[in-house]
Amino acid sequence: MPAPGWYYRLSAFFKEKFNEKIYKIPLDAGFSCPNRDGTLSTKGCIFCYNPSFSPAALLREKGGAGLSIREQILRFQFRHEKAPGNTEPGTPPGDFIPRRKYLAYFQSYSNTYAPVARLKELYEEALQVPGIVGLSIATRPDCLSREVLELLYGYARRCHLWLELGLQSAHDATLRLINRGHSYAQFREAVLNSRSRGIYLCVHLINGLPGEGREQMLETIRRINSLPLDGIKFHQLQVFRNTPLEELYRENKFRVLTLEEYLEILCSQLEILRPDIVVHRLLAEATGDDVLLAPHWRSSRALFSQLVEKELINRGSYQGKKYKGATPAGNEKG
Ligand code: SF4
Repeated sequence: MPAPGWYYRLSAFFKEKFNEKIYKIPLDAGFSCPNRDGTLSTKGCIFCYNPSFSPAALLREKGGAGLSIREQILRFQFRHEKAPGNTEPGTPPGDFIPRRKYLAYFQSYSNTYAPVARLKELYEEALQVPGIVGLSIATRPDCLSREVLELLYGYARRCHLWLELGLQSAHDATLRLINRGHSYAQFREAVLNSRSRGIYLCVHLINGLPGEGREQMLETIRRINSLPLDGIKFHQLQVFRNTPLEELYRENKFRVLTLEEYLEILCSQLEILRPDIVVHRLLAEATGDDVLLAPHWRSSRALFSQLVEKELINRGSYQGKKYKGATPAGNEKG
């Protein structure tokens, strides 16, 4: 039985798999999204301010984009290994060889939303850089054609591959309200199609969406528990300026969660979460502070994970303590 305070951290998963720490390099490959380019909608999800969760997209926003995938990776590795904490761009010298292992994280917007030949070019470029042992690709559940899945299947056999799927909520009424442009059934289908090809799957959720109370957020966990998922990312809802969500917020149509409420709901979600699901993230740590309207509370990820651990210890609890079902077939991690 796990000790109180335990939850299945991504670092522990990597340690089991690689026997060392693995670092993720956030990348902006210049993709767009069908929910913004007019294919489904021009408005996007009502909360969407991509730079808030993607440092690489923030760079694009500030006009600093244009670096190739290789260059973005090398610069990250150089900063990370030569001068930890230094966020200034630096050009690695020609003889720079990384000592650590990394995943190339295609993070900004929808990273399977391009012709397959272009996707292949970009993913290959990342895998050619020394130190890259795999890919993590974030996308929407409706951007996974059969051709894209075939491509990903090939990578899953060659390298470590995570596919990160945005869902945010398992309730269709909420998905409509936030203008996701897809249903829970589409997400479910994407998970089942992808999993059969041996890809590690991670779901992204947001707590505190308009119209949702504690019970709906817990129900989202119960629903996804039955799917063959491998990982989960939790975020608190954040309101950014110049988003449709800002209007709803200013009209007092909803309120954001306090730190205490978010912590309570998150720990309750962890208690019912399937124990084999790896927790990639507990909190959104916004980078676009100047445009964030709410909430006003802030916490670093490190500090917040200590709060979660303390709360679980106080409850004498841990991830999956209240989970009753079985692990879906094929998800046992060896
Ligand atoms: S799917 Fe992602 S990138 Fe597209 S609008 Fe929604 S949050 Fe933004």
